Amino acid sequence: MNNINYRQAFYTLSAPSIRQCPADSGAEVAFAGRSNAGKSSAINTLTNNSKLARTSKTPGRTQLINFFELSEQQRLVDLPGYGFAKVPLKMKQEWERNLTEYLHDRQCLKGMVLMMDCRHPMQELDVMMLNWAIEAERPVHILLTKSDKLKKGPAQSTLLAVRKHLKDAEVDDLVTAQLFSSLKKQGVETLMQVLNGWLAVDIEASDNEEMEPQKK
Ligand code: GDP
Repeated sequence: MNNINYRQAFYTLSAPSIRQCPADSGAEVAFAGRSNAGKSSAINTLTNNSKLARTSKTPGRTQLINFFELSEQQRLVDLPGYGFAKVPLKMKQEWERNLTEYLHDRQCLKGMVLMMDCRHPMQELDVMMLNWAIEAERPVHILLTKSDKLKKGPAQSTLLAVRKHLKDAEVDDLVTAQLFSSLKKQGVETLMQVLNGWLAVDIEASDNEEMEPQKK
């Protein structure tokens, strides 16, 4: 499996809907979470680049799908944070439509990293997001963020409870979870391994496709 250098990620563009996204080829991984769950910090930690996180927080870009390129065929995608109390209903519905469309139609989407504050995971909107991804048959990797805020025991219990929830819901083949702390740089390697798998498998697959033209 090829290791990817996440430090080389750079911002390319922001799209209001799937129609304005880059060409649907190669492999990409989306990052989602409630606002304040630690999504920007996680992307920042992964790529070791605080500028990327700032890019997505630029006013006017918070409701957009922000694209970061790792290579021509590999992208990280920062989805708009959800859970703002003050967002008008119309905007929420618009966001929901764009998001479900992106999850369903985007062929190159290989998985979603879903961030939840480890002190209160699996809130209503998180479960909704998770279910949309599952319905779209996208693998999800849950980051239980800010794990430094809990002592080791409670952090571990939270992880086990989330995993049990996934097993009980019979989605543990599609959904995995880990603890993560941007502050302590905890869990970065594990996250990278998941991403390497999602982003690299497809590169091999597309190489094969090139070698073996489709039979009609
Ligand atoms: P976003 O809205 O999901 O992009 O969240 P941010 O990355 O901006 O983080 C929200 C708040 O949580 C900020 O005040 C961060 O400093 C804080 N935060 C993010 N990650 C961590 C972490 O790993 N540990 C701690 N203690 N705080 C964090």
